[in-house]
Amino acid sequence: MIKATQIYKSFGDLQVLKGVDLEIKTGEIASVVGSSGAGKTTLLHILGTLEQPDFKPGSSLEIDGTDIIKLKGKQLSKFRNNSLGFIFQFHQLLPEFTALENVCIPAYIANTDKAAAEKRAKELLSYLKLSDRFNHKPGALSGGEQQRVAVARALINNPKVIFADEPTGNLDSATANDLHQLIFQLREELNQTFVIVTHNDELANLADRKLVMSDGKFL
Ligand code: ATP
Repeated sequence: MIKATQIYKSFGDLQVLKGVDLEIKTGEIASVVGSSGAGKTTLLHILGTLEQPDFKPGSSLEIDGTDIIKLKGKQLSKFRNNSLGFIFQFHQLLPEFTALENVCIPAYIANTDKAAAEKRAKELLSYLKLSDRFNHKPGALSGGEQQRVAVARALINNPKVIFADEPTGNLDSATANDLHQLIFQLREELNQTFVIVTHNDELANLADRKLVMSDGKFL
């Protein structure tokens, strides 16, 4: 479960988040929508521990019982790598590594041994219909294939929570539909929690709950 209370964030004089309260249950798929600049990505980064909020009295942030505010340094990196998964529109795959190697990286950081990491990576890539692309580097993959590699990488450590920012942003509609189905299948199989920032109405409406952000708060 994610429980955020009174989250604020400013960049210089620009106040972006103005006291966000949010509770997302384990296994819930929540979409976050709202106009450009409303603060959706900023909130996702804060929930995903990629960015620090401006804590004020009464602010708190918990993920699956872990008080994120108390985690620092290595503890925070370990929590992020082992418990959270990220899917971004621009997949940020490492160009010099193959699809299989890219997927294995978070598992290696979590000290999973090579054989076990590769076995799981191959299972995930096969599940995502990439069994004939293990040894291709990102430059030799289509946009949709790269996105699926990034999804496999986000899933390799079986994270409890997956944060996705415009996950279908550069996919054609057929591939976007495949990704929608995959998200629901994963929830069925692994009870993972998803927080998805999207401008894709279909995906936003498929979610269990659609949260509308406006001017730094939920409506
Ligand atoms: P979009 O739908 O266009 O992606 P969004 O709702 O995700 O928008 P954010 O990316 O959270 O919006 O940005 C909210 C505001 O904060 C914007 O005005 C943006 O320019 C500003 N902002 C975001 N990150 C920074 C930063 N690192 N430094 C300064 N301003 C920032």
